[in-house]
Amino acid sequence: MTTELLSPPTPRQTQVFVPELVYFEPDALEYPKGKRIHEWALREGLPIRMTSSHNRITNLPGESDLEKYRIAKRTLVVGIRKTLKFDTSKPSAEYAIPVATGCMAHCHYCYLQTTLGAKPYVRVYVNTDEILAQAQTYINERAPEITRFEAACTSDPVGLEHISGSLKEYIEFMGKQPLGRLRFVTKFHHVEPLLDAQHNGHTRFRFSVNADYVIKNFEPATSSFQERITAAGKVAKAGYPLGFIIAPIIWHEGWEDGYAALLHKLKEALPPEATSNLTFELIQHRFTKTAKTIIEQRYPKSKLEMDEAKRKYKWGRWGQGKYVYPDEQANALREFITERIFESFPEATIDYFT
Ligand code: SF4
Repeated sequence: MTTELLSPPTPRQTQVFVPELVYFEPDALEYPKGKRIHEWALREGLPIRMTSSHNRITNLPGESDLEKYRIAKRTLVVGIRKTLKFDTSKPSAEYAIPVATGCMAHCHYCYLQTTLGAKPYVRVYVNTDEILAQAQTYINERAPEITRFEAACTSDPVGLEHISGSLKEYIEFMGKQPLGRLRFVTKFHHVEPLLDAQHNGHTRFRFSVNADYVIKNFEPATSSFQERITAAGKVAKAGYPLGFIIAPIIWHEGWEDGYAALLHKLKEALPPEATSNLTFELIQHRFTKTAKTIIEQRYPKSKLEMDEAKRKYKWGRWGQGKYVYPDEQANALREFITERIFESFPEATIDYFT
């Protein structure tokens, strides 16, 4: 037997996202960020096309709907954010701050599939100065209250940072704001460009984590658990307030072992500086009828359980309601995971379970 056969397998390394196709709005090239991304795309040798609007990409390649969808997920569109009215973002923040829209990962349960509808391509915005000026207006309006902005409502911006550099700008902007705070969540480990940002403790850097079963079955094209946790350690060492979002919490065979193992692994892997001022956010799996139809089309082999008969219907404020777990199951999940969190991290805060 050779030594090669005896050595442990090299862990899988998730590469940074490189799109297969890049579109630019012509006006985006007037902005320094647009120019920089254009030069990058040329250096990478990527096919470049122009589009009149980042909201109307109609000529994407692909034979079938599924192929078009897969290509769209690997298509970058560089444009100007025209809507500068921010959405609200309860319960984690007051406002959703736009940084990007769309994501290259393929999480089966992701709500972007429904909210982005026929536009699953990845959009980044070049007019970040205007977006931050709008954030400043919102901060001023709410003074002397603190205003929190969530940057990951419509994308996973950490996975796009090597292309846009926008998150670092937002982090440093909020670092200078006595009353402004930023937060975002990621499933990617590409945190290097953000480690030296002047955050001043005003950005909460959260990682999305889950039981092995969920990551393995439902989160293709994201960084592995190990990569995320190593990145979380680096982020904590860089002095950022750290958090974890356990979402979606999924009831599956062996869920107690799965979630207990998750908390155990987090405790083992995190450096001491990561455990003070740690927050957890807990979100149980939910789906709408529309989401179910889309997921079944796009991921027909998915094991994601979406049986309405096993769920409780929760009326939505804007019409379509969601299917969540019945109270008994939801309570069991909440209680069990809460106990495991406090066993491993007695000083942590649980912001919410929803
Ligand atoms: Fe959606 Fe986040 Fe997965 Fe991207 S990483 S597909 S935004 S759940």
